[in-house]
Amino acid sequence: MTATIIDGKTIGQNLRARIAEETAALSQQHGIVPGLAVVLVGTDPASEVYVRTKSKAVTDAGMRSFDHKLPKETSQAELLALVQKLNADPTVHGILVQLPLPSQIDSSVILNAIDPGKDVDGFHPMNAGRLATGLPALVPCTPFGCVLLAKTVHTSLAGMDAVVIGRSNIVGKPLAQLLLGENATVTVAHSKTRNLPEVCRRADLLFAAVGRPEMVRGDWIRPGATVIDVGINRVPGEGGKTRLVGDVAFEEARAVAGAITPVPGGVGPMTIACVILNTLRAACARAGLPEPKIS
Ligand code: NAD
Repeated sequence: MTATIIDGKTIGQNLRARIAEETAALSQQHGIVPGLAVVLVGTDPASEVYVRTKSKAVTDAGMRSFDHKLPKETSQAELLALVQKLNADPTVHGILVQLPLPSQIDSSVILNAIDPGKDVDGFHPMNAGRLATGLPALVPCTPFGCVLLAKTVHTSLAGMDAVVIGRSNIVGKPLAQLLLGENATVTVAHSKTRNLPEVCRRADLLFAAVGRPEMVRGDWIRPGATVIDVGINRVPGEGGKTRLVGDVAFEEARAVAGAITPVPGGVGPMTIACVILNTLRAACARAGLPEPKIS
């Protein structure tokens, strides 16, 4: 068997096109243009690329993008003051503070200061609690994208055995909560899990969010399973260059799985699409309008 490739790039582009349509309708019917403020402290090259990609996706969708680049010496008090200003700005519907932050700043203090209604990353404890208790919430973009990708393969995830490898607050835990919300039977595996290959072999849906290049081997995968690879790892490539690989050994896995996401071109583009989807959702909620009918 050769797995179907889940083309996150195309699925993400289609999602962004639908978001752009809804954004145009929101602006025409209600005079609201969703705005996303992205805050970057310092000059980490990977973060700069990511922020540029996000800003372009925002403007492509017909939204406003407000970029705030601060020097790496910025104090916690200065960053807090900016977050408070953005919280109070009615043209800003979503706020993203790019992580990691420099060591003089406690990221949890900053993330907890973001208005939960503008928290398009879904990292605020209020949104994490709402997600965990099944209330409407802004949910973290990467897990949101993972579930949307799984649902392009299976119209319903109800009753499926889902295994999530990784228990971070950013990916693993919210992904497990979202899958529970879809009525999947969820196992969360992590660095202390015993017999990880055996646990993975139970999965109809396998999500890898570890950060270890090609850790998940072909024989860890149940034949026909759907594999969503969240990992982004840079490894040495040919001619002294580097290349990106996921947490799953792709070639081995595609020979066994029913469907699989590539890296790059799988989960990554969906994360960006979900950032703008959350910005649209936040703008609608702020105006007391119903959830946009997308996805
Ligand atoms: P993290 O380091 O916060 O968490 C990693 C998790 O993996 C931990 O919960 C840990 O328990 C688990 N783990 C570590 N070693 C393990 C092992 N040997 N066996 C089983 N579990 C193990 O990482 P994160 O922020 O959750 O990110 C995970 C990966 O996803 C990284 O590669 C990151 O770059 C990638 N990522 C991708 C996107 C995207 O948009 N595609 C977004 C966020 C993160």
